[in-house]
Amino acid sequence: MKKLDQLNFENSFARLPETFHSRLRPTPLPEPYLVSFNTDAARLIDLDQGEALSADFAEHFVGNRLMPGSDPLAMLYAGHQFGHYVPQLGDGRAILLGEVKNQAGEAWEIQLKGAGTTPYSRSGDGRAVLRSSIREYLCSEAMHGLGIPTTRALCIVGSDQEVYRESIESAAVVTRLAPSHVRFGSFEVFFYRRQQEQIVMLADYVITRHFPHLADAADKYPRLLGEVVARTARLMAKWQAVGFSHGVMNTDNMSILGLTFDYGPFGFMDAFDPGYICNHSDHEGRYAYDQQPYIGLWNLGCLAQALTPVIPVEEARAVLDTYWPAFGQHYLELMGAKLGLSRVGHEDAALIEGLLDIMQAGRVDYTHFFRALGHFSSTPGEPNAMLRDQFIDRPAFDAWAEAYRARLHGEASEDAERKARMDSANPKYILRNYLAQIAIEKAEKERDFTEVQRLLVLLHRPFDEQPEMAHYAALPPGWAQHISVSCSS
Ligand code: AMP
Ligand code: MG
Repeated sequence: MKKLDQLNFENSFARLPETFHSRLRPTPLPEPYLVSFNTDAARLIDLDQGEALSADFAEHFVGNRLMPGSDPLAMLYAGHQFGHYVPQLGDGRAILLGEVKNQAGEAWEIQLKGAGTTPYSRSGDGRAVLRSSIREYLCSEAMHGLGIPTTRALCIVGSDQEVYRESIESAAVVTRLAPSHVRFGSFEVFFYRRQQEQIVMLADYVITRHFPHLADAADKYPRLLGEVVARTARLMAKWQAVGFSHGVMNTDNMSILGLTFDYGPFGFMDAFDPGYICNHSDHEGRYAYDQQPYIGLWNLGCLAQALTPVIPVEEARAVLDTYWPAFGQHYLELMGAKLGLSRVGHEDAALIEGLLDIMQAGRVDYTHFFRALGHFSSTPGEPNAMLRDQFIDRPAFDAWAEAYRARLHGEASEDAERKARMDSANPKYILRNYLAQIAIEKAEKERDFTEVQRLLVLLHRPFDEQPEMAHYAALPPGWAQHISVSCSS
């Protein structure tokens, strides 16, 4: 395990030409204090957890002091925001310190989000607020706990410096870890600037570092696109299956590695509602829950277009055509696992859709119901009252349950064995908005960060019963309906 000054930073992105980034230092924040430290993420970079106790830990992870070897920069990128191309975005408040290699040989980029203005800040203040930093920190770790690819979060450092949003809030910096922060928009910026050479350099950079098996292939660029298509398709399937909405699926928030990236107004659904919009600023529902798979492909289309200088259009089209089969297959597998089916096929689609239809009609809680479904008794005549009572239209549930029972008998499913499998597919705990909200209010009003830590530990193991924490699996309280989550962060 390493001390802070032994992390051995490198910054391969900094070695790309100046057109790719702007070197700069974070803007200091006064009197930083540690809000939360994530020992799990520290292990990714072999960082000794005792370092979090040192007096200058907060100084380093707020950006006031630099660790040896770090070479901070803001990355350039562009992106399609709500369908419209915005030519220059770039890290307006995130600063990449560099990457740290762990003993297993994996390189993790370390980025401070909220570390001050950059040449790409436009009218922004370069800051992030404590509220949104807690949300990003907890959600990225919750997603990891759920087995969904995501950026990780090492710590949050706060400062009492005021930040002006809809109201006055306080500043914080969340330290993000990812193998790469390259996004679709990192390619788009050079396509629109007609800088073909940069597209080649960036594609080669990504291949060398993240897809080395493609390095010598004659068709390495179409295959790179193929990898991104496959990963994105699987990621969308995972979001849909767990009931997650990202909220701002702009192409600058789409990871080239298929990671869940940039947590803003995200939400986990409570009652099942395909039209669920988690972002109150998304008036047209462009990024509604049921739109995500389509938007995933739309965004890949933007990436494919940006790669047309190195991939013939017909080939790019053929690669994009692999999206729906990959999405459909993975979604089916995931939903089959949620139903406890040991083999799932296209003939099961009606059973899955039939359930989602009656859940939607009855506004049944998505997470709660699937976890409870593990208790389904396949014994004929058994009413399964605990499940049935979650529906208003009970005969509709009974009809579905009959079909489900027949399907289970068809594969000689055994109740106890199936429940064990279902418990590892249906989380008991998710980061509902109200849980995050309680932790945020305690942090903001009382400077009490224990709830953040408690949720972090809880959500790292969302499939485990954790009986002493059962109340965190409760349905949302009435006041939760009034939590408004906007883009403001
Ligand atoms: P986001 O919606 O968080 O993905 O941000 C979109 C773009 O706006 C990115 O280029 C961000 O760096 C930039 N941005 C967001 N908030 C701020 C801020 N407070 N100051 C400067 N830039 C920001
Ligand atoms: Mg972003």
